[in-house]
Amino acid sequence: MKDRYDMIVVGAGPGGSITAKTAAKAGLDVLLIEKRQQIGDPVRCAEGVNKELLSTYIKPDPAWISADVIGSRIFSPDGTMIEMGEKLSGAEVGYMLERKVFDRALAREAANAGVEIMVKTRATGLLMNEGYVCGIKAQHMGNNYEIKSKIVVGADGIESKVGRWAGIDTSLKPIDVCTCVQYLMTNIDFDPEFCEFHLGTEIAPSGYIWVFPKGNGSANVGIGITGDKSTNGSVKKLLDKFVERRFPEGIIIEFIVGGVPVSRNIKRAVVNGLMLVGDAAHQSDPLTGGGIINSMWAGEMAGRVGVKAINANDVSAEFLQKYEKEWRSELGRDLSLSYIVKERFRKLTDEDLNTLGHSLESVDLKNLSLPGLLWALFKANKKLLWDLRHIFKDIKEIKDIEKAEVGI
Ligand SMILES: Cc1cc2nc3c(=O)[nH]c(=O)nc-3n(C[C@H](O)[C@H](O)[C@H](O)COP(=O)(O)OP(=O)(O)OC[C@H]3O[C@@H](n4cnc5c(N)ncnc54)[C@H](O)[C@@H]3O)c2cc1C
Repeated sequence: MKDRYDMIVVGAGPGGSITAKTAAKAGLDVLLIEKRQQIGDPVRCAEGVNKELLSTYIKPDPAWISADVIGSRIFSPDGTMIEMGEKLSGAEVGYMLERKVFDRALAREAANAGVEIMVKTRATGLLMNEGYVCGIKAQHMGNNYEIKSKIVVGADGIESKVGRWAGIDTSLKPIDVCTCVQYLMTNIDFDPEFCEFHLGTEIAPSGYIWVFPKGNGSANVGIGITGDKSTNGSVKKLLDKFVERRFPEGIIIEFIVGGVPVSRNIKRAVVNGLMLVGDAAHQSDPLTGGGIINSMWAGEMAGRVGVKAINANDVSAEFLQKYEKEWRSELGRDLSLSYIVKERFRKLTDEDLNTLGHSLESVDLKNLSLPGLLWALFKANKKLLWDLRHIFKDIKEIKDIEKAEVGI
């Protein structure tokens, strides 16, 4: 480890590794640090990702693909099933990853691009000079270090401290965090070609239960509900109830808990000398909780803007607005829409969900596009058109807020 770099990236998740790789490929001297002793482990993820989107960042490799699914099945509270093809199923359906291997493959690609990586190295604070972030304080094997850099990127996940140290409000209200419990289960009976989503206010209030195939007869079976609906231990109890009913013979071989930001867009993701990426910038999808692709997408943007800033010898917040504007216009609008839909979704009763399920029961959704799905919904359920007027009104409001906040 040196005492000075062009860029330091804190956190070797997908967002951090892609940021570091992008910057190093363009010639920057980059350090990527990870507090855990093993990149990618422990996994806090259902590990589903859209094939096409993923392939834009890394060549698919059987070494980190544990299953390949062809679509999803959504179950309404009364058990009505809607089957959707891959295209319609969103950013979390396609390949089921083995993230322990995947996250390391991304880090290896960063290393191949020239990034220096240090594991078991925790950022403990930021170095500041005349209002600029100019490096980090770090701890490695009981020793404290001060490492300087022109830019710091906080890719330190949902528990991000980097943003807070830089004065960015990254706090999340319980309603804006999805609390998750997940089992890796074996000895279970399910269709390995489909991801399952189970909806219902009793099954998973303000959230859903998922069954994501993992190959060899195993699956990630998990639940995510917003923090305002969960009390101590209640999330696990809901999952246990589902498991008892759906997989009575199932055996749990791994148990994880974790959280995903499902909030409105963060107000600011840059300050002088610093950018936030991925879950640290609340860039996961508020409706689905998916964040792998988004963190890679944002990481690529932050890496590119970091290179431009350093080449221009200007790492001011004003220059880094290029990143802020790009991620908000590329990704932020989708996130805002997802947030609005999530808020509407939270208000649906079991009866509403069943009605929606029934209205699509006889529609062939395998090869439908999203507009096709909406059209099918409208045709079958005219009331929905009327309900959707709120969404369009909310979208306009959000656009106005964004315009006022970042001038895009
Ligand atoms: C139960 C669950 C299921 C999910 N399922 C899916 C899914 O199926 N599909 C999907 O797309 N998304 C899913 N997600 C979300 C997805 O896991 C995240 O959005 C994604 O990992 C975000 O990537 P990231 O790089 O921003 O952060 P992370 O992957 O969280 O990486 C952050 C890294 O920073 C490190 N770090 C933290 N603090 C420090 C520090 N001070 N110093 C050094 N290192 C530090 C952490 O150890 C970690 O390795 C799920 C999340 C949960 C909890």
